[in-house]
Amino acid sequence: METTNKPSLSVILANPRGFCAGVDRAIQIVEKALEKYGAPVYVRHEIVHNKFVVDSLKNKGAVFVDELSDIPAPDTDRPVIFSAHGVPKSVPADAQSRNMFYLDATCPLVSKVHREAERHHKNGHRIILIGHAGHPEVIGTMGQLPKGSVDLIETVDDVAGLEYAAGEKIAYVTQTTLSVDDTTDIIAALKNRFPDIDGPVKEDICYATTNRQEAVKDMAHKCDVVFVVGAPNSSNSNRLVEVAKSYGCPQAALVQNASEIPWALLKEGQTLGITAGASAPEVLIQGILDELNRIFDVSVETFTLREENITFKLPRELAA
Ligand code: SF4
Repeated sequence: METTNKPSLSVILANPRGFCAGVDRAIQIVEKALEKYGAPVYVRHEIVHNKFVVDSLKNKGAVFVDELSDIPAPDTDRPVIFSAHGVPKSVPADAQSRNMFYLDATCPLVSKVHREAERHHKNGHRIILIGHAGHPEVIGTMGQLPKGSVDLIETVDDVAGLEYAAGEKIAYVTQTTLSVDDTTDIIAALKNRFPDIDGPVKEDICYATTNRQEAVKDMAHKCDVVFVVGAPNSSNSNRLVEVAKSYGCPQAALVQNASEIPWALLKEGQTLGITAGASAPEVLIQGILDELNRIFDVSVETFTLREENITFKLPRELAA
């Protein structure tokens, strides 16, 4: 039998982890647009929150800009793609007014929240959005409706600050990548304060966010440490770190790639859980496993909560 002098480390890989159908679709949209229309193809904002993904697309000819006005004059006839997080209505309107050809990579589950908010607004409701201030998805959802018609709340405490006239109809929608537990508490506080509030049956948190959080909930107590592979600006990755800690794992850290492994957290004989946010590609997890293998004698098992087999259609222009 082969022996090794390396210290042992047990790794539990969460399944599902990493890319969701919305991220996969958004990346495909950029890649297929590059194939069909050639480089450069412009992308407004990070297509998904992951530097590795963004850099790979840059290498293939995508150019990332903050605003449509940043696209230089000779290139304004090039395709421009909107990110998976969604955009305010003013952005496609701006593209149209500039005669730009755009492709919308907004995740269909984010678009569903946009339509919900619009429907409530049309029915005369005031809208409460549960989400994180400044996140592109929140900016996009608020931007579906006229300024001042959406109130953003982030915590249970924020519910106390909401004031509406007696008889005013209200409804809530949520960001898709929130903590399932925190959102349940906020919705309970809303229903307690406004018993007639309208909203989705559960919440708008998407299947991918829910599944990744549930897998971590079920494996956290078996782990001494959990690594969440993801970017610091990725909402669902940050939520996974919180979930690991609050479901019994003493230490959890966000790790962008193999060069960022927090070695000080790892000791011989421990169990390390690894998961990844919805915008983190599998290649980063494999890189981390390779690096761990250099130092430790690693045994890997997979904890499968459930299999995912969801895919979303590409826009008509790229479907063929
Ligand atoms: Fe869509 Fe959810 Fe993925 Fe966001 S995390 S892109 S909402 S499937």
